[in-house]
Amino acid sequence: MENRYSRQTLFQPIGQDGQQQLSDSHAVIIGCGALGSSLSETLVRAGIGKVTLADRDYVEASNLQRQQLFTEADAQHSMPKVIAAERRLRTIREDVEIHTVLNHVDGPVLEEITGEADLLLDATDNFETRLLLNDVAWKLNIPWIYGAVVGSSGSVFPFIPGKTPCFRCLLPVLPAVNETCDTVGVIAPAVQISAAHQSAEALKWLTGNTSAMRTKLLHFDVWNNTSVEAGISRMKNSQCQTCGSHPTYPSLHQQSGTQYAVLCGRDTVQIIPDAGRELTVADGVRVAQQLQTEYRETPFFVEFHVDGYRCILFGNGRLLIHGLKDMKIGRKLYHSLFG
Ligand SMILES: [Zn+2]
Repeated sequence: MENRYSRQTLFQPIGQDGQQQLSDSHAVIIGCGALGSSLSETLVRAGIGKVTLADRDYVEASNLQRQQLFTEADAQHSMPKVIAAERRLRTIREDVEIHTVLNHVDGPVLEEITGEADLLLDATDNFETRLLLNDVAWKLNIPWIYGAVVGSSGSVFPFIPGKTPCFRCLLPVLPAVNETCDTVGVIAPAVQISAAHQSAEALKWLTGNTSAMRTKLLHFDVWNNTSVEAGISRMKNSQCQTCGSHPTYPSLHQQSGTQYAVLCGRDTVQIIPDAGRELTVADGVRVAQQLQTEYRETPFFVEFHVDGYRCILFGNGRLLIHGLKDMKIGRKLYHSLFG
C-alpha cells in the first residue's frame, strides 16, 4: 500500500511532511450520524492516525438515506452507530486506530476522551452539546470545527482558542431554536457539503496549514443556490464565560446545561434547557405547526402531541413530556424537536 496516499502527498500544501503529521494525529468526532460518517471516512481514508467516535444512538432505517457508513443489516440489527462505523472503517483501512464511545457525551466524558487529542469535530445535532464542545475546546486549548445541517442548508466554522471568538460569543446572534432534521428533514448533499468543508479545515489544521484556514463563518443553501460568509471576529466578547479573561466554562458544570428528570409517580419526563438558550411558547407553537400536529396555546404554555406523548412547553422553556418514564427517550425527543 505504499502508493496509497500518493495523490494527497502530490498536493503541495500537504506533501510528505503533512502526511506524516496526519498519521501522528488524533481527531475526536462527536456524533456518528450523517456528518460523523462522512467526516470519519474522509479522515480515515486520508491517513489520520487515530479517531475517537462518540455517539449514543442505534442505526435506524431512516438514517440510511444519508449516513454513508451504515447498511440495511445495521438497521435491522439496531447496531450502535459507533460499532457499525468502526467495522466499516476497518474494512476501508486496517492500520487506523479507532476508539469508540457508546455513551451520552457530558462534560466529564468529553474531557476524558478529548485529553491529548489534536482536534474536535462537531457532528452532533444539538445546541447544548455544541456549548459543551466549545467549553472543553477552550479549556483544553484544542480547536473545534463547527458543522450544522438542516434541510438543504448548513453552516461551518473552525473555532480556534486564542484566535477566533468562541461559539458562546455568537449566542446573541444565533437563533434560540434551530429547525431540526426531525422537523423539516435533511438532504444528503447538504450533509456532504458541510462535511467537505469541515474535513478540509481538519486537514489544514492537522497538516500544519493553519494560515489557510477559514476565517469567516460559511452558510450555504444548496437548494436555493446561495452561499454567504460572515465575518465574526468582532463578536469576541471579553466577558465571555468560555473565552473571556475569567472563564468559568458553564456547560462543564452539572448544574448548568440541560437538566433532565423523571418526575416520580407522574409518568412524566421534565426537561429544563441550558441557561444559554431561551425557549418560549412561540417556539413550541412553531414546532407543532411544522409537525402539523394539534396544539393548544394558553398564556402560560403550549400543549401538543407527538409520537403519542403529550408535551407541555412553558413560557420559561421548561418542557414536560407526559406518558413517558424513560429519560433517554425524553432526551432524544427534546433534541429532535428543538435541536
Ligand atoms: Zn467566547
